[in-house]
Amino acid sequence: MAMAEAAARPAAVKRDRLRALGIMALNGMFDELDGPGVLRQATELLPGELAIVSSFGADSAVLLHMVAQVDPGLPVFFLDTGKHFPETLAYVETLKGHLGLGNVSALVPDERDITRFDPRGELWETDPDSCCHVRKTEPLDIALEGFGGWVTGRKRYQTKERGVLPHFELTSDERIKVNPLAYFTDADVTEYKARHGLPEHPLFARGFRSIGCAPCTTVVGEGEDPRAGRWRGLDKKECGIHFDVNAAIARPVPVAELTLFKDGGFVADPFRAWADGDDPAGVRYTHVPLPVFLANRDAVLANPHPLGLLVAPGDRVEVVADDLSRFASIAVLFPAFTDGRGYTSARLLRERYGYRGEIRATGDVLADQIALMRRCGINAFVVTNGPTRKALANGSLATVDIFYQPVGGAEVPVGTRPFLRRARESV
Ligand code: SF4
Repeated sequence: MAMAEAAARPAAVKRDRLRALGIMALNGMFDELDGPGVLRQATELLPGELAIVSSFGADSAVLLHMVAQVDPGLPVFFLDTGKHFPETLAYVETLKGHLGLGNVSALVPDERDITRFDPRGELWETDPDSCCHVRKTEPLDIALEGFGGWVTGRKRYQTKERGVLPHFELTSDERIKVNPLAYFTDADVTEYKARHGLPEHPLFARGFRSIGCAPCTTVVGEGEDPRAGRWRGLDKKECGIHFDVNAAIARPVPVAELTLFKDGGFVADPFRAWADGDDPAGVRYTHVPLPVFLANRDAVLANPHPLGLLVAPGDRVEVVADDLSRFASIAVLFPAFTDGRGYTSARLLRERYGYRGEIRATGDVLADQIALMRRCGINAFVVTNGPTRKALANGSLATVDIFYQPVGGAEVPVGTRPFLRRARESV
């Protein structure tokens, strides 16, 4: 490639390539290692930043035994969904005692999410993806904050989709996912358990080969995939914690494809825009336009899935003030640089109606607007403009600290009212 062309390549593309090369190098260097070797390398690669995630299912004793050999103090997370077999809960205690694991934590779903999305505990029947999201993905996402990587017990032989699983994956949230058992076969698992005298899950002898939540797990027949008993009859193979956007195997999403800027970086956006023909009672992770919400209020409020609200110029947020807590995200539309009505909507949402969730700016979002948007309470930005993306990614946006027209309660007006400025400064 010509030097000029290489120099012109966007920084994000270069970074994506370096990330991909880094993970390829890891897999190349440590491809031949056995499970404990991979785990040991991971602890050296990410000292103090590595967590183990275990279902305490049929094969979990193998990985947890390796953890006990490498470092029994490594943090182990168990996703306590509230839907497990009692035998699984008992098995957690059995393995903790048997292996001497000293740092096992149960991750439980947020009560507010359960009240909002699954008050009757039946979401698994109508929408297992959302059920897994609320009971597994969300609690795990929160627990993994501060960790640079996590370890899973997945294996290639389990399903067709896992057939290319490597030892190390790079996820789009910049974490390394480690799969020490990737190359284990069914026979390897059996042999390992027998060699180390590991206790079996109480349901294993009754024909359960892959054990998750009770409503979604059935016995596996002769010749079936070990995971065939999970979500039987549904087109669902993974619970969601192993999805990377939509792929079953983590696929780093190029930064250039990520448009949502939040918490200091570009991240995968779980929400999508409302489309003609969408069903207000059934859509998920969609920003429902405010007029559509008003016309279908009962259906939207009864919809059990995570939803957002879209506020366009001219929409009056006052009319939805009592329902704001229903929405996990509010998108405020800025259709043109010259249209400032979105600022007013954002301030009303934050300051008058006390909305605490995500308020995102969407539409024609440009660098010069972002400082004022932030001052108005907007904390996420959907950005496609190249220079604006670059400025956000580099942290080179201008900030404003002199205010002629203060917003909110904390900004100090400049110039004319020194007594007020002094009063505010002493707060
Ligand atoms: S496995 Fe079933 S019950 Fe468990 S979280 Fe997923 S859908 Fe809900």
